[in-house]
Amino acid sequence: MRIVSGIQPTGNLHLGNYLGAIRNWVRLQEQVTAEGGECFFFIADLHAISMPHDASQLAGATREIAAAVIACGVDANKSAVFNQAQVPAHAELQWLLNGTARMGWMNRMTQFKDKSGKNREGASVALFTYPVLQAADVLLYQATHVPVGEDQKQHLELARDIAQKFNNDFASEEDPVFTLPDPMIPPEAARIMSLRDGTAKMSKSDPSEMSRINLNDDPDTMLKKIKKAKTDPEPLPSEAKGLEGRPEALNLVSIYASVAEKSVADVLAEFGGEGFGKFKPALAELLVEHLRPISERFNELKKDEEQIDAILARGAFRAREAAAPTLANAYSALGLLR
Ligand code: ATP
Ligand code: MG
Repeated sequence: MRIVSGIQPTGNLHLGNYLGAIRNWVRLQEQVTAEGGECFFFIADLHAISMPHDASQLAGATREIAAAVIACGVDANKSAVFNQAQVPAHAELQWLLNGTARMGWMNRMTQFKDKSGKNREGASVALFTYPVLQAADVLLYQATHVPVGEDQKQHLELARDIAQKFNNDFASEEDPVFTLPDPMIPPEAARIMSLRDGTAKMSKSDPSEMSRINLNDDPDTMLKKIKKAKTDPEPLPSEAKGLEGRPEALNLVSIYASVAEKSVADVLAEFGGEGFGKFKPALAELLVEHLRPISERFNELKKDEEQIDAILARGAFRAREAAAPTLANAYSALGLLR
């Protein structure tokens, strides 16, 4: 098993990143390394330049996300932890894959539509080709499994399409260049929604701080955000089907279930019939307790820039070694003279 997954240094780590992706990284890391497999977890700094960004902040943001990932339990002795910019093979393979990706495939990607919004003509070309870089990120390491939130499912399908077409066009069936990766999407926390809008996903790049819980929010801030979270006036139902058509209520109950590692039905068995006046403080308390050790480790680690840089350098070394053979095979399959 080869696990590869990434996260952008575009802001603070939030509950969606944690429940949808990073908590799974930690579980997989234990399982996979025990069985002799490998995990590669990267900070997607090359992806971060696809949106307007402040160049003076990027290195700091990259270190900070690395610290957060480690605070969540990723162990840099077990997994390779690095940032893309220190492994040039990511950008190189993307260019090679640009020859295989089709415009028609790219035009169907919903993240580009969401992130470019009304200003499609003003969006960067990088935002459009972002999924091809993402394909390169995982194909480079022969990833077998990619733990992501549900929002990345479409991009992973694209990575499979690209790998398949490349193998078809430029390699033999017995000796393919790329492995087709499978997505691993956590069932209970696939998509955590914004606290302000139950139909939009919780996102680092949402301009409203009130829309998300950051892993390092202090307890008062968490309580305030949960209390102000949008809801409806009805009490909680006692069965899951009563949450249909109530996206905000469903989101809060799902968050509770995911953090407590219970089913939505179990949470409703406990809180059904109660109003949000009772449920919200219970949810805030659960979050504060669960996230406290993470935010303590994070605040400690982020002071130690040297240690973070050493971890990233070590991880990048491992990643460059692992990526080299696949990159060389891709050049060669395309007939490029080197
Ligand atoms: P940005 O808004 O800059 O794209 P993001 O919040 O979407 O930031 P990413 O760095 O793009 O975060 O994604 C990191 C990981 O977190 C991915 O695996 C993604 O699927 C997952 N993820 C992001 N948002 C959510 C969410 N709301 N619910 C579940 N998983 C999520
Ligand atoms: Mg994203």
